[in-house]
Amino acid sequence: MIITPKVRGFICTTAHPDGCRAAVKEQIDYVKAHKHAQGPKKVLVIGASMGYGLASRITAAYSFGAATVGVIFDKPASGARTASSGWYNTAAFEDLAHADGLYAKTVNGDAYSEDIKQQTISIIKNDLGKVDLVVYSLAAPRRTMADGSTYTSVLKTVGEPYTNKTIDLKNRVVSDITVPPASPDEINATIKVMGGEDWKAWIDALKAADALEDNAVTVAYSYIGPDITHPMYADGSIGKAKDHLFAASKEITAEGIKAYISVNKALVTQSSAAIPIVPLYISILYKVMKAHNVHEGCIEQMYRLLNEKLYNDSGAVITDEQNRIRLDDLEMQPEIQSEVSALWKTISTENLDTHADLEGYFSDFYKLFGFGIDGVDYEADTDPNREIQF
Ligand code: NAD
Repeated sequence: MIITPKVRGFICTTAHPDGCRAAVKEQIDYVKAHKHAQGPKKVLVIGASMGYGLASRITAAYSFGAATVGVIFDKPASGARTASSGWYNTAAFEDLAHADGLYAKTVNGDAYSEDIKQQTISIIKNDLGKVDLVVYSLAAPRRTMADGSTYTSVLKTVGEPYTNKTIDLKNRVVSDITVPPASPDEINATIKVMGGEDWKAWIDALKAADALEDNAVTVAYSYIGPDITHPMYADGSIGKAKDHLFAASKEITAEGIKAYISVNKALVTQSSAAIPIVPLYISILYKVMKAHNVHEGCIEQMYRLLNEKLYNDSGAVITDEQNRIRLDDLEMQPEIQSEVSALWKTISTENLDTHADLEGYFSDFYKLFGFGIDGVDYEADTDPNREIQF
């Protein structure tokens, strides 16, 4: 099959298996080329097929030689449809990890369900006994409960509507958007999907099965960002869910397992592309951070998380005064933010090329689906079927 990108709204409905493999390999090579701390040896990553979760899995495997169990929710190829990029990433990761002598197994299914929790725990019990790090990196639009009811998360404000600039990525047009406030039910649903309830349920289930080492730690990911994004993000419906995630970290810690929130940088992923206003901010941020030589992608962030912040020579986890790990330190530097804010004030459709790194944005976006990667022959006929050994 000759596979080309088919973009609908803010997702690409096709993915390229060879491109995804090359992108995974690039991340592995990055980690291999850097020095490593002493870290965990048996790692569970929930949400392991894309973005920050995939980069966490790669970093744990290639920094520490860790055995990794990944939980993903992805589709294999079928008929004329390619597999999802998370499927190809995972097939490639497993293949490359196995060739390097590393243990890697994956469970494909809904991480919110009890069934997938139990399947995962039984693999851990049979193969590894216990894990010493649990990464919770789910980004999901909805959650189905045990009784079949469903909660759908929304990306809205809380309280007042908010108007600011956004970009129509398809037509490359900057215009104003008014984001409406979420209803109380929508806020509650967003907390159910993206808050800390399911993270805690995973830790409780692992504990009940005696599948956590005594010194096990767990980490989940959050975002804060600058004022322009606050009404939409930190103070919006997703921010309420992130507050809940933070509260869950305290609860989990109080109950005996050290739990951390890592505040990560804004990056192009399948999830962030869906948030109004944020992609325009990201493309300006890329421009400024690249000019200052401090731009990072998922793998650089997760490398720093696991080799400098959570594990390091001092043996102490490096946090801010609220016990949060800050990987957004470079993004939030005052000189970076003042340049972003100056560009934000004057950005328009006409000056997009000088004010934002739209090419960088699109390059990262296509790369998520395995497109636009050097060395991959996109004209070649390729088999869309790739195996994951379950
Ligand atoms: P992503 O979309 O790249 O990855 C999400 C992962 O979750 C994928 O592997 C997907 O398959 C998996 N997943 C989704 N629903 C699932 C389900 N029901 N069962 C099992 N797996 C499921 O997202 P991301 O941007 O890497 O986000 C991961 C975390 O990082 C989120 O908590 C997000 O809020 C946070 N974060 C993201 C950014 C950013 O800019 N992208 C910044 C800071 C924090």
